[in-house]
Amino acid sequence: MPSDASARGLILVVEDDHAIADVIRMNLASAGYGVHIEHDGAAGLDAIRRLKPAAVILDVGLPGLDGVEVCRLMRANHDWTPVLFVTARDDEVDRIVGLELGADDYVTKPFSPRELVARVGSVLRRSQGIADAPPALTLGSVRVDLGERRVFAGDLEVALTATEFDLLAFLIRRPGRVFSREHLISEVWGYSALAGNRTVDVHVAQLRAKLGAASPIRTVRGFGYAADERTAAR
Ligand code: CA
Repeated sequence: MPSDASARGLILVVEDDHAIADVIRMNLASAGYGVHIEHDGAAGLDAIRRLKPAAVILDVGLPGLDGVEVCRLMRANHDWTPVLFVTARDDEVDRIVGLELGADDYVTKPFSPRELVARVGSVLRRSQGIADAPPALTLGSVRVDLGERRVFAGDLEVALTATEFDLLAFLIRRPGRVFSREHLISEVWGYSALAGNRTVDVHVAQLRAKLGAASPIRTVRGFGYAADERTAAR
């Protein structure tokens, strides 16, 4: 089987450290992914356009065009291929999060290869869910534009963090269905062991504060949450 073809999809890895790139390749390949590796940002960007990978693992610290620039250029080109950043330092994390690049997740070096593979799986799962959906969803007066990752309450745009957006989009795509906190954590966060149940409550509270009366999120006491139109209308 050629290295770039596999049942689980092609993952492009852009990493200038050859040893790390090899470890990532080995672990992704044994998990059933096809892997293509590039060692600098410009070649990475070219490979993204050429190969249309299912997801990109993007080192932030790259020679020439760095990972943040690569992602910025992708998004400017309306390329929403999921990106999992690999960072070496905390200040890089701040940069990724602060820039709202539409990064799907990140791992900090040193990372466990197993964790990286799990994160890739969860990033792909989330992006496939979103790709199958219509580009914009409306519930009550809330509109969620999945392609642009923008949310409106009536005519007003509401600025959400990436996680708040993912949580709202997940619920709004399934109106009226009730989800437990555990279920939401595994679907939205994707790695249940790291997030406590309070995490969901905190994010729901933030969403309600930002959406105000337009919030469609209903609390199901002792269980979890749902989004429905009646909640927003009350
Ligand atoms: Ca590097």
